[in-house]
Amino acid sequence: MNRVRIPDHQITCSNFIAGKWVPAHGDFIDIYSPYSGSVVGRTRESNLADVSEAVASAGKAQPQWAELPIKERTRIMFRFRELLLRDQDEIAQRISLENGKTLAESRAGLMKGIEVLEFALSLQNLDEGARMEVSRGVFCEYRREPLGVVVGITPFNFPAMVPMWMIPIALTLGNAFIWKPSEKTPLTSILIAEILREAGLPDGVFTVVQGGRRTVEYLLDHEGVAAAGFVGSTAAARQVYRRGCASGKRVLALGGAKNHIILLPDADPDMSAVGISDSFTGCAGQRCMAASVLLAVGDVDPIIEKIVARASSQTLGNSMGAIITDEQVQFLNESVAEATSEGADRVLGGDFKPPGDYPEGYWFPPTILDRVQPTHMAARRELFGPILSIIRCDSLSEALAVENGNPYGNAASIFTSNGAMAEKVARAARAAMVGINIGIPVPREPFSFGGMNDSKFGHGDITGPSSLDFWSNLKKVTTKWQMQTDHNWMS
Ligand code: NAD
Repeated sequence: MNRVRIPDHQITCSNFIAGKWVPAHGDFIDIYSPYSGSVVGRTRESNLADVSEAVASAGKAQPQWAELPIKERTRIMFRFRELLLRDQDEIAQRISLENGKTLAESRAGLMKGIEVLEFALSLQNLDEGARMEVSRGVFCEYRREPLGVVVGITPFNFPAMVPMWMIPIALTLGNAFIWKPSEKTPLTSILIAEILREAGLPDGVFTVVQGGRRTVEYLLDHEGVAAAGFVGSTAAARQVYRRGCASGKRVLALGGAKNHIILLPDADPDMSAVGISDSFTGCAGQRCMAASVLLAVGDVDPIIEKIVARASSQTLGNSMGAIITDEQVQFLNESVAEATSEGADRVLGGDFKPPGDYPEGYWFPPTILDRVQPTHMAARRELFGPILSIIRCDSLSEALAVENGNPYGNAASIFTSNGAMAEKVARAARAAMVGINIGIPVPREPFSFGGMNDSKFGHGDITGPSSLDFWSNLKKVTTKWQMQTDHNWMS
């Protein structure tokens, strides 16, 4: 099945509290499909009472969950994985319906989320703790303890993958997890919650609360919440970090990005064209790791021609998906108009035909702007669409200076056949994830995911080994035993 199905009824999306679906009581929110432009579901903002009910139920369930040995918790997570794989087609349909991705992209995102789950399955081995006899009869040991009730707040662009960065690790470590999905894409949360229940997770250990900014603020202010993981735009990440820290919580907030790719004349033309084109067109550019600026060093025009050719072969609604909202399509159009008025040349984009199946969807074609200046808005602002801005540079140093002048720090890549040039960029780039001949340098498990600068607020990464320290506390136990024997029977 390669076609995204638009259901003939609206899906109601409630809160999942104590193992039951219960309606929230705040404002109604319509959910649109980017494919059809029609309302496909409805949810409600959670008010303070809804959030308090959710935190109370999670707080009640958490101690018993934490008392289970990690091997028992892990067994439920194994079942979670089996059921996600069983239902992958249905989940991919749901993601595409509400987010606009192609079905192949939705499946790929889910599989990447399952990789994080697989990492969580290994925690029972990784996290066996350490114990040492530090002096005669005196032992020090580490024990990892959960934090209690923790929260994950996620963006629209990966309705399953980004939540899966947090849910399996936080749960396996013995926390109760409250998920606040994006109000634009909450429908996938229904399937994830049902699967966790079927996997045998006790009621209350996993909770979903629906809503937007106000709901997040109730969660961040609530004294029953110990920690919050956040992924979204930089403006929101900064606010969430400040607010959560102000109320004494542990917070890790991943923000937006403006990723640069440096292209050198000695790069392999075909590999570069595929890597760069797919980086800015994949998921219609709505990835925090998408290429946004191409720093073209010297004469790379033959490679740019190949990038343009590959990007122009994308077909909307087939190899490339839709944009999340109509407003975002307008923003992208305005951004292109602004760039051309500032002197950029549009070498790809403009007129296009919407796919015949979905004429009313939110479509925007692959667009390439050449001769953008580093001061232009197209080079500075996160656009979050399939737009590549090319800045011409005379040298690698000039390209690095432009790259490092941007305030974000998620990804930076270089395409070259020269190892020394690649190493120079790996060392000098002020980005936390560097790609060499790779357009989307997302680290695979067990390597961790996380940016720097304005792309991340807080310490550590959201996945991988440092995520253990985020979602748990290390307790240090020191024990002393009298080693001499007092009775004959002890000898
Ligand atoms: P967003 O910031 O609008 O929303 C993200 C989440 O935060 C949603 O659940 C939303 O309800 C909530 N929210 C929004 N404003 C808030 C506020 N002021 N206070 C508290 N909560 C708030 O982001 P989005 O549009 O859903 O997602 C796209 C953004 O996410 C892009 O900027 C993208 O780069 C970023 N992103 C970053 C990463 C990463 O790993 N760094 C990954 C995916 C997406």
